[in-house]
Amino acid sequence: MIQHYLGPQRSCIVCRTKLPAHELLRFVCSPDAELVLDYRHKLPGRGAYTCCKPSCYAKALDTHAFARAFKRPCKPASIHVIVQQLRTQVLAKVVSLLGMARKSGIAVSGQQAILHALRRPREVAWVLIADDMAPAAAEKFQRQVHEISVMRGIDKQILTQALGSGERSAVLLKKSPLAQALKRELQRYVDVMGEV
Ligand SMILES: [Zn+2]
Repeated sequence: MIQHYLGPQRSCIVCRTKLPAHELLRFVCSPDAELVLDYRHKLPGRGAYTCCKPSCYAKALDTHAFARAFKRPCKPASIHVIVQQLRTQVLAKVVSLLGMARKSGIAVSGQQAILHALRRPREVAWVLIADDMAPAAAEKFQRQVHEISVMRGIDKQILTQALGSGERSAVLLKKSPLAQALKRELQRYVDVMGEV
């Protein structure tokens, strides 16, 4: 019965782990027989799924598991190309979720507004500090948010673009399902930036 609420389940073509489809990576084979990562699960055609673990998608590339899953030839793709696609698409999702967070009023940016929001710590989910915030400023800011969870991983330029504002080097997220989804996505981005 629980499965009903988790959406359709799919198996990783390598380790066979069964998970809700949205927790797996979806790949399609383009009309030119190129392997394409379909991070948002939107491209048409037969999909093949792997875990988000690099060991699984790397093995799928090495063993021609994709061609078998698509039941047609698919040109070999290098792990570097796939990791690059993953980085680009995960970052696009982070930017899109940040934009949604701003529109729905759960993203607070600007130093004064953040300090104001920190007066109600129970409503705060986490704070993002841009990687390129000046070290002294970041240290001071970190002291001000002391018990709140801090995320890093993107720079000021991306943050500013995502929030559609003047230059921003920090953003505070209020507790909400969207803040949780954004944290998961940002963590995935940090993880994939650490890959080959
Ligand atoms: Zn797997």
